[in-house]
Amino acid sequence: MKYYSTNHEAPLASLEQAVVKGLAPDRGLYMPERIVHLPASFFEGIQDLSFKEISCRVAEAYFGEDIPVDTLHQIVCDTLSFETPLVTVSQGIDSLELFHGPTSAFKDVGARFMARLLGFFIRRQGQRQVNVLVATSGDTGSAVANGFLGVEGIHVYVLYPKGLVSDIQEMQFTTLGQNITAVEVDGTFDDCQRLVKSAFMDESLNRQLYLTSANSINVARFLPQSFYYFNAYAQWKRRRMEQTGDRLPADYGHDELVICVPSGNFGNITAGLFAWEMGLPVKRFMAANNRNDIFLKYLRSGHYEPRPSVATLANAMDVGDPSNFVRVMDLYGHDHATVCRHVQGAAYDDRQIAETILQVWQQYRYLLDPHGACGYRALQENLQPGESGVFLETAHPAKFKHTVERIIAEPVTLPESLQAFMNGRKQSVPMTASFEDFKRYLSSEAE
Ligand SMILES: *Cc1c(COP(=O)(O)O)cnc(C)c1O
Repeated sequence: MKYYSTNHEAPLASLEQAVVKGLAPDRGLYMPERIVHLPASFFEGIQDLSFKEISCRVAEAYFGEDIPVDTLHQIVCDTLSFETPLVTVSQGIDSLELFHGPTSAFKDVGARFMARLLGFFIRRQGQRQVNVLVATSGDTGSAVANGFLGVEGIHVYVLYPKGLVSDIQEMQFTTLGQNITAVEVDGTFDDCQRLVKSAFMDESLNRQLYLTSANSINVARFLPQSFYYFNAYAQWKRRRMEQTGDRLPADYGHDELVICVPSGNFGNITAGLFAWEMGLPVKRFMAANNRNDIFLKYLRSGHYEPRPSVATLANAMDVGDPSNFVRVMDLYGHDHATVCRHVQGAAYDDRQIAETILQVWQQYRYLLDPHGACGYRALQENLQPGESGVFLETAHPAKFKHTVERIIAEPVTLPESLQAFMNGRKQSVPMTASFEDFKRYLSSEAE
């Protein structure tokens, strides 16, 4: 399978080139040139398959031409060391819990897959050291750092905005050591993202260092996120079959199921839209935002107007210029009406997020995190009669312990995996938001 750039000014790339490069040379994002439609028989029997079985099948559709099938299955099975259970929150609304991985957020899936795939390519090439640069607004850094920890031949630099991530998030990528360096930038997430992008475009730096990205723009991170949409559907359908005792058609749910994705850079929802194109029976998608509602504004006006991000309780979605927006546009032929037909939007401010967390906790004893709260609320307000909603619970609420405790006025205990990070020692490299400073630092690292 070849990959083209959304800017259409770069040559087609192989999977390996797309993964190693991250961003296309014309600064576009790579897209697979075909989306394989999975057969009806797959959907007919999907409720009887395990998460790993489903994911191997989906992975073959994307990567089967490019990676030996045994290797691919191994990568998928190593990646999915945890489940993504579908849990009912309230009448007609289910939570797809994506926080049972090592860093308690959905990004574990993409990051673990990418680390293993990149490791495979590097071994195959007999490559010298590869440097992964990643900008994080909180959860990407921890997922990537933990996904790549100890992977031979790869060094990871995590750039994060000083003071703008939670203590727990910060401890997850600053305490690891080994092949992981945390760079603490005096600026915003957008500054971090700009530093990373500038580094990739800087010729002298690229002559000196072999650089690649692990942001959600990388196809190896973004595509595997499709796996759990199929797994959500399998569980949803299995439950429905248990309730009704009926056999259900292969396209069951296409006139009922609404999937809502709390969105920041729009990588996660784009993977869902790909799953839909592969035949996943879904009625429509929703993108839930916080006050950074650029996408919602686009749906309403037809104009895409990026602006500086503002800080919110759902900080992993504090993005003012979502990098995967171009993929959504590319997928739907840059047609506003087509985008609107497929994806609905919603946005909530901090007060509404807090209100939702409290209400759902008091009424249903389900504890949402601030991102999932946007997703839940978007369904609650927008589901039509006869529709069922699934929202993605993108992180464990304890990752936002202080916020959530303040809202529900009760203590929240950390899962053991998160507690272990809190006992580590923070190490970071202080950095200004100036590219010249960052470049000087990276160059000195190469010597
Ligand atoms: C990264 C993140 C998001 C946003 O995902 P995108 O793929 O950037 O849209 C939402 N919630 C949490 C908890 C995250 O870490």
